[in-house]
Amino acid sequence: MNHLYQLNEPVLSYLPGSPERGSVQAALHDLKQQQLDIPLVIGGKRFYQGRGVPLSCPHDHTVQLASVHQATESDIGSAIAAATAAHTEWAAWSLEDRAAVFLRAAELLSGPWRQKLNAATMLGQSKTIHQAEIDSACELIDFLRLNVRFAQELQQIQPSSPNGMRNTLDYRPLEGFVYAVTPFNFTAIGGNLPCAPALMGNTVIWKPAFTATYSNYMIMELLQAAGLPPGVINFVPGPSHSVSSAVLSAESFSGLHFTGSTSVFDALWTEVARNLSGYRNYPRLVGETGGKDFVVAHASAEIETLSTALLRGAFEYQGQKCSAASRAYVPASLWPRLKQRLIDDIATIKMGDIEDFGQFMGAVIDRKAYSRVAGYIDEARAGADTILAGGGYCDTKGYFIEPTLIEVADAKARTMQEEIFGPVLSVFVYADKSWEELLTLVDETSPYALTGAIFGTDQSALRRAADRLRFSAGNFYINDKPTGAVVGQQPFGGARRSGTNDKAGSPLNLMRWVSPRTIKETWVPAREYVYSHMA
Ligand code: NAD
Repeated sequence: MNHLYQLNEPVLSYLPGSPERGSVQAALHDLKQQQLDIPLVIGGKRFYQGRGVPLSCPHDHTVQLASVHQATESDIGSAIAAATAAHTEWAAWSLEDRAAVFLRAAELLSGPWRQKLNAATMLGQSKTIHQAEIDSACELIDFLRLNVRFAQELQQIQPSSPNGMRNTLDYRPLEGFVYAVTPFNFTAIGGNLPCAPALMGNTVIWKPAFTATYSNYMIMELLQAAGLPPGVINFVPGPSHSVSSAVLSAESFSGLHFTGSTSVFDALWTEVARNLSGYRNYPRLVGETGGKDFVVAHASAEIETLSTALLRGAFEYQGQKCSAASRAYVPASLWPRLKQRLIDDIATIKMGDIEDFGQFMGAVIDRKAYSRVAGYIDEARAGADTILAGGGYCDTKGYFIEPTLIEVADAKARTMQEEIFGPVLSVFVYADKSWEELLTLVDETSPYALTGAIFGTDQSALRRAADRLRFSAGNFYINDKPTGAVVGQQPFGGARRSGTNDKAGSPLNLMRWVSPRTIKETWVPAREYVYSHMA
C-alpha cells in the first residue's frame, strides 16, 4: 500500500472571520434545532425499542440533545451474534481493504464531517472549540490514519527464512470479539477503542459512556458512511453493569479495550477472572485508567513557562483529562512570585457556555462529577489547606466549578493523592535544599503513574529528576505541560494503577489485537528418520 500517512492533522485556529469558525457555529445551530433519537446499531441496523434516557448539555440543563436507547440483555445477545457472524469475512479481508474503510472515515472527518463532530463534542461534553478541535477532529483523524501505518509496520515484522524453507507470521485477529468500553472525556478515544481492534481484523461490541453518546453515535454514523460492513462494530449504549456482565459471560469474548477509571477496570478484570475457564481463549485485557499527574518545579524554573503549563495543564477541559496537572511541587524561592501570577491569571479565566468562543472553560460533565469535585473543595476548605483562588461552584444553569488553586499544608493531603478529575490544582511548597527528598515524595505520594512534568533550566537537576522519576509516569515531560499527547509523537499510557500501558496510538497497542500464527513451509521435506550421527 502506498498511503504512508506520516503527518498529524493540522489544528485549525477558529480566528474571528475564519471559514472554520463560521461553519462550526452553523453546525452548533443546526444540532440544537433537532433532538436526536439515538438507537443501538447492531449488525448495521438501528434499534429503537429499548428505554430512551434523556441527555442534556452539561453547561445548560435546558438544552436536551438526545434520547439514548438502552440495550437490554437480549440486545447484547444479538450484538454478540452479529459480531460473530461478521468475523469470518472481515478477518479474511486484507489489511489494505480494511484500512481503506478507516482512511475513508479519516478523510470524511477531515472534511465534511469535521464541524458536525466538533459541534457534537462541544454540546454533549462541554468542550471549547479548541478542546473539541484537538480531540474530535485532529486526534481521531490521527488515530484513524496513523494506526494504518503502524499496522503496516507490524506486519513487516517477519521471521528469517534460511535456505530450504519459508517462515511467515500470519497476523490473525483474535478468535472471538473484542469489547470496547469507552470514557466520556475524549471523543477520539471513543472512536479509537473500537476502531483499533477492528483495523486488525476483529469484530467489536462498543459500549460508549452515556455522557458521550451524542458525539459517539455520530462516529458510528461516520464509520457506516465510510463503508464499515455490518456487524464489524456494534454500538450498544446501555446500563454499564448489566451490559458488561452479559458481554463478559460470552464464551467468545476475546479482548477488552477499556479506558476509564481504575475502579471500573478493576471490576471488569475481576469479572473476567471469575469467568476465565468459560472462555475459548485467554482474553487480552487492555485498560488505560486514572492519573494523579504531577508538575515538579526546580528552583531554576522560569515562572512564566511554569505558570502557563500549570494553568493550561490543570484547567483546560475543566481538569477532566486523565493527564491533567493536579499536584504541583514548587520551591519556596519561586512560590511568592508564582503564586501571585497564578492568582492574577485565574481571576481572568472565562468560564461559561462554550458557544461563546471567548470561554477558556465549560462545565464539568454531570451531577456526579460536580458533587465529587465540590466535595474535595469543601473538605480542603474545612481543613488545614488554603484555597488561594476559585473554590466556588454553582449548578443553576449547568455544572460549573471555578478553577481552584489550593495550597496544601501536608504533602500527602487527599487532594495531592487522589484523582479529582475536575478543575482543582493543589500545590505543595518545598524547601529548595530538599530536592532529593522531594523526588522521593513525588514518586511515593500517589498510586498512579500516568503523566508528569519537570521544569527547570539546571540540566543536571533535570537529569537527576528524570532518572529518579523513571517509574512515576508513563508520559514524562521536560519543560512542558503534562497534557496534550499527540498520536504518533507521544504514545500514551501509564503504569502502576494508571493501566496496562499498552500505548494507544502506537504499534504496541495494535499488537494486543492480533494472535499471530507461525507458518513454516519446507521446500524439500526429509525422507528418512535416521540421522547421520547414527551411522
Ligand atoms: P468511568 O470509569 O466512569 O467510565 C468508563 C466507561 O466504563 C464508561 O463507558 C462507563 O459507562 C463504563 N462503566 C462505568 N461503570 C461501569 C461498571 N460498573 N461496569 C462496566 N462498565 C462501567 O470513567 P469516565 O468518567 O468515563 O472517564 C474518566 C476516567 O477515565 C478517569 O479516571 C480518567 O483518568 C480515565 N481516563 C484515562 C485515560 C488514559 O489514557 N489513561 C484517558 C481518558 C480517561
